[in-house]
Amino acid sequence: MGNPDVVVIGSGPNGLAAAIELQKNGLQVVIVEGADTIGGGTRTSELTLPGFNHDHCSAVHPMGYLSPFFQSLSLQEHGLEWAFPKASIAHPLDNEPAVIQYRSIEDTKLSIGGRDGVKWEKTLTPFVKKADVLFKDILGPLGWPDAPFTLANFGLKGMLPASYLASSLFSHTRAKALFAGCSTHSILPLDMSFSSAVGLVFAISGHVVDWPVAKGGSIAITNALASYFIKAGGKIITNCFISCMEDLPKADYYFFDTDPLQLSDIAEKHLPANYINRLRKFNFGPGVFKIDWALRSSIPWKDANCLKASTVHVGGTLPEIAQSEKDAWNGRHSESPFVMVCQQSEFDFSRAPSGMQTGYAYCHVPNGSTKDMTLAIEKQIERFAPGFRDTILERKTINTTQFYNYNRNFFGGTIAGGAADLTQLFTRPVARLNPYSTPNPKIYICSGSTPPGGGVHGMCGYRAARSFIKSLR
Ligand SMILES: Cc1cc2nc3c(=O)[nH]c(=O)nc-3n(C[C@H](O)[C@H](O)[C@H](O)COP(=O)(O)OP(=O)(O)OC[C@H]3O[C@@H](n4cnc5c(N)ncnc54)[C@H](O)[C@@H]3O)c2cc1C
Repeated sequence: MGNPDVVVIGSGPNGLAAAIELQKNGLQVVIVEGADTIGGGTRTSELTLPGFNHDHCSAVHPMGYLSPFFQSLSLQEHGLEWAFPKASIAHPLDNEPAVIQYRSIEDTKLSIGGRDGVKWEKTLTPFVKKADVLFKDILGPLGWPDAPFTLANFGLKGMLPASYLASSLFSHTRAKALFAGCSTHSILPLDMSFSSAVGLVFAISGHVVDWPVAKGGSIAITNALASYFIKAGGKIITNCFISCMEDLPKADYYFFDTDPLQLSDIAEKHLPANYINRLRKFNFGPGVFKIDWALRSSIPWKDANCLKASTVHVGGTLPEIAQSEKDAWNGRHSESPFVMVCQQSEFDFSRAPSGMQTGYAYCHVPNGSTKDMTLAIEKQIERFAPGFRDTILERKTINTTQFYNYNRNFFGGTIAGGAADLTQLFTRPVARLNPYSTPNPKIYICSGSTPPGGGVHGMCGYRAARSFIKSLR
């Protein structure tokens, strides 16, 4: 392996992003990965039956597609291809047509209908027009923004609880439900401040790009990043789980693509006690219970328009969704959980044998939950797609403990690097001027537990690497 300048612990999208940026800037980088394959939350394999390729974790990638860092790498030259649906989100409702979020604001306005449709258009249009700079400001380091007025407008709305913003903007079920579904991606209770910020980001992104999936599975993103990294001269070692600093190859610097808890355990003897204590107080938020299905046919939605979208938000009205998210946050299991359904094989035909489909769904559950949510999830889907259960050939479930065993970053089944509440939205894992640095100048953290947070966009890794390169200079 030679004598690397930097060792990156973990090959998730942020570990790979940090490694690429460091390697591109002349450092010799080695990634050590605990699992037998690379990719962290961005892996795909046959989890149910032969020929059915399931995404283990991340499935739909608006932020991966829009990531300024990924775009700068021309990943298509490394084999990454996107498959685009006809719409980003379908939101089925009882006894009325589903609300569909199309890229076109006009078509979405028509799908919402009435004055609320017009309000949706008026609220979203200023952000969508400036989306390229707005996303750079949101995903980039804190500093003077490129679009200060748009960012201020975003901040004023984003700081509000999602249920409050939805109810103050809209009068009827359809738009309120659509915004509530977008806001569940925050994994916060919808009556908590800042739950609107993530809701707005997802609603805006759906008008910039039809939320795509990676052709061949999310693993294609990992493979493209790894190909870039190896071509630039980097090295990757798998099956190399790190429990303490002594397990690591000798290097000048270490970048942790791990959660704060693992950093605190692995580097306990190399970091001051007060920093370790702060890492250990990190709030992970709820976990998830997930199901993958091999299906004999498409999901039989009552409203067939739901098949146009890569993501279906299943949970009914805003009050129902808000209750479900509040339950998970407060340590309770919802009997009618909000369910995130993804339909990758409807748009990427490599995922399932001809005429058949893969199904993917999860709901939020209390951190550390071991409850089997299969019945509750399938009941919610049946509510809007009667006959769904008859299409199931095989299912594979995973609870929060199994998620943690799969990837030690998923403490208690958390999926987005930890809670993005007020205290951890900008200052994760702990409040520091440079959140990627630690009191030990040799040690950095670059995972989704750092800003700008969870999701497959690589911006945490990229920004950690940039902050390090700046400090070297
Ligand atoms: C069920 C689920 C659904 C999701 N859906 C989406 C989605 O649709 N779209 C989206 O953008 N995001 C989604 N996400 C979130 C996304 O997957 C994560 O935010 C992202 O993977 C974080 O990347 P990362 O590099 O920070 O860490 P990870 O992806 O967690 O990678 C960390 C890597 O480090 C390795 N590692 C950990 N500890 C050690 C150790 N001690 N020694 C050696 N190696 C170690 C792990 O094995 C892993 O490979 C989802 C996540 C889950 C779990």
